[in-house]
Amino acid sequence: MNQSNDQNRKMLRYLLIAVIVITILNTIIIPTLTRPKAMEVTYSQFKAFLADRQVAEVYIDDTENKILFATGRGADSRYYVAGLVDDPGLVFALEEAGVTYSAPIKEQPSLIASFIVSWVLPILMFFLIGRLFSRQLQKHMGGGMSAMQLGKSNARVYIQSKTGIKFSDVAGQDEAKEALTEIVDFLHNPKKYTEIGAQMPKGALLVGPPGTGKTLLARAVAGEADVPFFSISGSEFVEMFVGMGAAKIRDLFKQAEEKAPCIVFIDEIDTIGKKRESTGIGGGNDEREQTLNQLLSEMDGFDSKKGVVLLAATNRPEILDPALLRPGRFDRRIPVELPDLRGRVEILKVHIKKVKTDPGINLERVAKAAAGTSGADLANVINEAALRAVREGRKRVSQIDLEESIEVVLAGYQKKNAVLNEKEKLIVAYHEVGHALVAAKQKNSAPVHKITIIPRTSGALGFTMQIDEDERFLMSKDELENRIATITGGRAAEELVFNSITTGAGNDIEKATQIARAMITRFGMSDDFGMVAFEQDINPYLGGQMVSNCSAETNAKIDKMVVELIQTQYDKAKQILSDNMAKLHELAKNLYEKETLTGDEFMEILASPVKPTAISEGTAE
Ligand code: ADP
Ligand code: MG
Ligand code: ZN
Repeated sequence: MNQSNDQNRKMLRYLLIAVIVITILNTIIIPTLTRPKAMEVTYSQFKAFLADRQVAEVYIDDTENKILFATGRGADSRYYVAGLVDDPGLVFALEEAGVTYSAPIKEQPSLIASFIVSWVLPILMFFLIGRLFSRQLQKHMGGGMSAMQLGKSNARVYIQSKTGIKFSDVAGQDEAKEALTEIVDFLHNPKKYTEIGAQMPKGALLVGPPGTGKTLLARAVAGEADVPFFSISGSEFVEMFVGMGAAKIRDLFKQAEEKAPCIVFIDEIDTIGKKRESTGIGGGNDEREQTLNQLLSEMDGFDSKKGVVLLAATNRPEILDPALLRPGRFDRRIPVELPDLRGRVEILKVHIKKVKTDPGINLERVAKAAAGTSGADLANVINEAALRAVREGRKRVSQIDLEESIEVVLAGYQKKNAVLNEKEKLIVAYHEVGHALVAAKQKNSAPVHKITIIPRTSGALGFTMQIDEDERFLMSKDELENRIATITGGRAAEELVFNSITTGAGNDIEKATQIARAMITRFGMSDDFGMVAFEQDINPYLGGQMVSNCSAETNAKIDKMVVELIQTQYDKAKQILSDNMAKLHELAKNLYEKETLTGDEFMEILASPVKPTAISEGTAE
């Protein structure tokens, strides 16, 4: 690991300095400080002192070639030093004068002890003090960033072994949770997957509007899987220095591979993952492109078998570089949509636990009033309510606090996010039920799986999901016609109930036209033309591109037939809906209130005996 290498080198440099300091202390400073202050005299002066019987004590140091001596005793003693002269009569003279004399002991007995005291201990102390300081420094600089490392490629990575957040903390979002559960399972026992030869997707991309819990979900995955969680946000890559972003990415992946199994989460990936501009004048944003290129190459380089799972989140999937979404990269897309009524109630339940409330709070009513809000908005509503209670000097949050705060939270929101108004919501409800009802009342059409009027990230205001019981490769003319009828069912319902039509069916019309055209020009399903292909799909692998190969006259005829085909199916759809008007109203009312109907709920209402209509045509106007 880069960082620990750096750490070691620093420690080594520090120890070297310590050794030098101790050497100077031991060889120069300590000896001069501890040497007794002695006056320098000549050897003959010493002899004179001796003859005068003034010398009290003598120390003959013949390794250093000097003689130390003292005159007087106790407090009166004075010290002298003289150069040693080869004097055979010295010892005799000393004996004569009755002077105590000594010499250094030649064999040094405590060599090891003194070595330990003057070398090993000091070095050890330096070492310990050094460590203490560097720890302190790290704490101050907040996680491994020291002044010496500044400017190097230090990816600031957050490792949280356990985020502590579980799936149960994320309310609603069942579909997203289900998709992520597989990833958790893989991290729990990768063997189960690798043994069979299955490859986990390298990356999953959480896509949805802001505040729907994408970041929360990613953290919950880490919490459930009980593995390290590396989190980095795209906005952190807006760096000053060129090349830092790419270095950060490299570090991130290196660390992740060491810690595998683990999760790498790149929040707000759109900041680095924007489409690369084809270099025009002035070029693109070089720094960002470098970062993105590094990310792409790291993603290709690592092996998902090792158990590194890559998650990313964005609320702007449309601006991502297509290269990021290719197979082998972020090839799994997990939608995280705005919550429906039930989802909003669940989210409120999670967050209401954090505050004290009056008994008998009706969260359903709060959720109903907060149509179009995200999880983050709802968390905010509860906090605002608590603040309101405090402002009014109460100890508990009341129902009124909650309902009043919705308006506070929604005030700036409504304009920003174009939340559907009630009338629009009702129209969308009828539109979607129109699709579903036409589908259900025809033979040979796929069962309804889910209907919702929660706006999608794709921009659709609502949607009806049909799932074929088994995969279809061949479709008969009947089935295709039925499909067109189903597609036109939305507009048909709007026209029947509101007697007006809206722009909401734009996408439907496009789809219906596509199918109708293909039936006539490619599948040979028209009575007039039979088995003639007027259009060819060139390049079917690269998105496809249609070329028409027929005369203008035939083209006009084809256009006319397409119009007729769609009109016939539209009339059929209208007929089905008028025949089932009571059910249309009942289903629309249910959908309008609940915002989402499952396939089972839909079938249940459809199969129940007809009730008197609740929303009459009059109120719908
Ligand atoms: P995103 O990343 O999608 O913009 P976040 O995950 O940051 O949204 O959500 C912000 C906050 O909103 C969360 O910390 C949580 O308090 C709340 N929140 C959002 N969605 C949910 C949810 N489904 N359940 C519970 N709380 C949620
Ligand atoms: Mg987020
Ligand atoms: Zn539609």
